[in-house]
Amino acid sequence: MPEKASSLVELLSELIRIDTTNPPGNETRAAKLLQEELEGRGVEYKLLESAPNRGSIIAWAESKEPGPSLLLLSHLDVVPANPDEWSVDPFSGVIKDGFVWGRGALDDKLSVAVMLKVFLDFVEFKRFKGRLIYGATADEEMGGRMGVGWLIEQYPELLKADYVLNEGGGFEVPHKRSVFLVQTAEKGVYWFKLKFKGKPGHASMPKSGDNVLPRLAEAVDKISRKGTPVDLKVHTKTFIQKLLESRGVPSPLRKLFSSKLFIPLVLKLAGDAEPVIDAMVRNTVTPTVARAGDKVNVIPSMGELNVDCRLLPGYEEGWVVDYVSKVVSGMDYEIEFIHRDPATESPLETPLYKAIETTVVSEVAGSIVSPYMSTGGTDSRFFRRAYGSAAYGFIPLRADLPIREMMRLAHGIDERVSLKNIEFCYKLTSRVLEAFYATV
Ligand SMILES: [Zn+2]
Repeated sequence: MPEKASSLVELLSELIRIDTTNPPGNETRAAKLLQEELEGRGVEYKLLESAPNRGSIIAWAESKEPGPSLLLLSHLDVVPANPDEWSVDPFSGVIKDGFVWGRGALDDKLSVAVMLKVFLDFVEFKRFKGRLIYGATADEEMGGRMGVGWLIEQYPELLKADYVLNEGGGFEVPHKRSVFLVQTAEKGVYWFKLKFKGKPGHASMPKSGDNVLPRLAEAVDKISRKGTPVDLKVHTKTFIQKLLESRGVPSPLRKLFSSKLFIPLVLKLAGDAEPVIDAMVRNTVTPTVARAGDKVNVIPSMGELNVDCRLLPGYEEGWVVDYVSKVVSGMDYEIEFIHRDPATESPLETPLYKAIETTVVSEVAGSIVSPYMSTGGTDSRFFRRAYGSAAYGFIPLRADLPIREMMRLAHGIDERVSLKNIEFCYKLTSRVLEAFYATV
């Protein structure tokens, strides 16, 4: 007999009550709760700690029928929540007004709970092929190096999967015809410093030194003004076409508008979505921190500029070095990378992507499914890189609150998910797996 079998809502609420704010994380308690749910259910599992209290839990089952490996992935940690700003205790998991409230209700404990139930259903009723894996891991919110990063390094066979279903997409963008977004790619993150050197002097005699501040200011100005060229990757081209389709734009025009030439017009018409779409169509190079001088009467001789740079698939640090040298040509500087994480992408023509598409379209009348490239990262990038997995961000959710409010909830105040949406998420995730196993 199963040790413990909580309802989906109870499990979510209980997970929220375990504070896994990262830092420091303390995910092991949450992993132990899941262990109780897995106990006696005919699956194998491992609770692994990358450091004391930094637990992740991985469970798996093998089918007699050959087939691909599929990983249902979620993360146990959450971002901090300030109780003073919330209308309920963020770690209460309270159920009121038809919602489960608390930090992690959307990101990502909903998924931890839903995927566990789906995993156990498919194992119990032998509705899967190949290897079905469940992973609820530590540290995603701080970059995943104490979670998925560590697991892949230490146990490369454990999480190896042809397909990964993860967070990062699945939400409905409501319109006459709703669009459900599937995250199929993530931009790369390249943070770098530009260092400038001058000569110190007394500020009362400006010519006694060589002031780096004007150069720093000039570099900020040049980098900020200079745009980067548009480069449409398949994810974004399809995304724009699907968005236009949802607005009733006929097919030939959709093709035209998703060409490079028309992107400026698309951006103009995009309204609130302009910043998002703009970041999908190009590499971005954004100065964020400038440091020089610390005394009012001393000419600063050292200056440093930190730049946040996000690259599309196919670009690497060589592009950055080259770009910067052209933009600030003639200036004397040194460039130093502080973080490099290349973009990752998964193909759109796979059985899992198709399964998502057919399921959503048949479950939500008139809806459209679109890929999209996110400007931030999820743990999917580890899998795309280590195993070439087809990894998709898809946690299906209806927009049952105004979209702007909904977008603010994950990592925001009063994070919550409706009971209806929990049911929807569970139902659609199950249907996606059914559709997937029907075709592989
Ligand atoms: Zn998350």
